[in-house]
Amino acid sequence: MTELATRFDDLGLDPRVLANVARAGYAAPSPIQALAIPPIRDGRDVEALARTGTGKTAAFVLPTVHRLLAQAAPPAAMPPAAAPQPPGRIRALILSPTRELASQTAGTIRTCIRGCGLTVALAIGGVPKDRQTRALQTGIDLLVATPGRLLDHLADDTITLEETGCLVLDEADRMLDLGFVDDVRAIAARLPTRHQTLLFSATMSPAISALARQLLHKPLRVAPPEQSAPPPRIRQQVIFTPADRKPATLAALLRQQDSGRTMVFTRTRQAADSLARSLTGAGIAAAALHGDHGQARRDHTLAAFRRGTVRALVATDVMARGIDIDDVALVVNFDIPEQPETYIHRIGRTARAGRRGTALSLCDPAERQLLREIEKRSGARIVAIDSP
Ligand code: AMP
Repeated sequence: MTELATRFDDLGLDPRVLANVARAGYAAPSPIQALAIPPIRDGRDVEALARTGTGKTAAFVLPTVHRLLAQAAPPAAMPPAAAPQPPGRIRALILSPTRELASQTAGTIRTCIRGCGLTVALAIGGVPKDRQTRALQTGIDLLVATPGRLLDHLADDTITLEETGCLVLDEADRMLDLGFVDDVRAIAARLPTRHQTLLFSATMSPAISALARQLLHKPLRVAPPEQSAPPPRIRQQVIFTPADRKPATLAALLRQQDSGRTMVFTRTRQAADSLARSLTGAGIAAAALHGDHGQARRDHTLAAFRRGTVRALVATDVMARGIDIDDVALVVNFDIPEQPETYIHRIGRTARAGRRGTALSLCDPAERQLLREIEKRSGARIVAIDSP
């Protein structure tokens, strides 16, 4: 196996892309970037195992932008004056499971295409279609879309994928969890026979492998070596407390410590709502975020969390998946997840982009076995601390 690049300069990327990497402040490629960028740059299909927080977005965006710069842009469509607008051509399509993730990915793309003369657009639900339609009909270099809205635009002939050279399936496992597998297949079928497909997933399952076998051509499989272990900068702690005391314990702890931006995970939507209410009642600026809430409310809650007017965001796992907020200082496991992978995903929300963070679990006696499993699987030492 060839040596992995430790400098962005060694990845063979266009100088304009490298200038944007420098501007973004990325000093060195993350492991998934060092592994995935060269084959993607060379046009191979890649199946990557990488969770949020590993730099996986830039791992597919940077080489894709490089390739678009290397290929001649298609000539602008010139319809006769009276003819209806032809569908807009998309050069690279990124499919995201959620609107939140799609918006964040579009943000990363905007950073990476500065000065490159390329365009990016979003096709997601929850916003009026007309405005999107007008933007898409002009043709777009990189389109980030959720499956449902994209199929709408295809049905309306707003866009065509007949000239799309690259398809990215981001967070493919979440896409399957949310029931998008048929949509993804239908979308992939609209691309030309020869195109590049990239599949990124935080977990690999038989269903993901089946999808990869169907959609990817001789893919290269890559996984960063530390995939199974949480980042080392996270201090991991546990407070043993009966389940019915957990809300009061957490409220006391948050009142006592200025923990900064805090994400609390609960298993169910009801638990998220009821905990957010009880924290608010204890004088802590808290809000719940989950799928029962409409898009406007979710956007509003996230914006308040980013601004800091909401200090504790109480979220379910599905909702939290697509959120990219760098300075979360404390992650709280209000319950102990049944899957060790879920624990690792959750606590990966903190200590991002080189920062430090704390992960605190609240553990009822009945959950001790789950905690032991997590310690065993992740090799982590979770230190017990006193209840406040
Ligand atoms: P992602 O895994 O795509 O959700 O990225 C996680 C965070 O890491 C994002 O805030 C990125 O801006 C940041 N990031 C991505 N690549 C690098 C890098 N090479 N060095 C430092 N930060 C990075």
